Amino acid sequence: MKKKYDKREGYCRMLGHFLPFHYCRTMKEGLPCGKILDCWFEMIPIQQFIAENYSKEEQHSIFEPPKSRIDTIVEIVGKVEKDKDGKQD
Ligand code: SF4
Repeated sequence: MKKKYDKREGYCRMLGHFLPFHYCRTMKEGLPCGKILDCWFEMIPIQQFIAENYSKEEQHSIFEPPKSRIDTIVEIVGKVEKDKDGKQD
């Protein structure tokens, strides 16, 4: 069922060329790109496809806003400090 539209092609404004739906539905560590609703709504019943093929948790992961650079840096620093604390014991 998930592979139903894999060979359809659409233009990606992010990458600047055409690509198959398969790429769009797997490009985020196996989950769909967060822009999949915007890019595919005119070509396939994309909302129905997402609702039928992905759990609520997966949908949350798909559509959560990307982390800002500062959030990523803070997260990395937090992990490093946590690792340091763990090694001192
Ligand atoms: S869903 Fe993502 S990868 Fe696919 S065309 Fe849109 S922006 Fe590009």
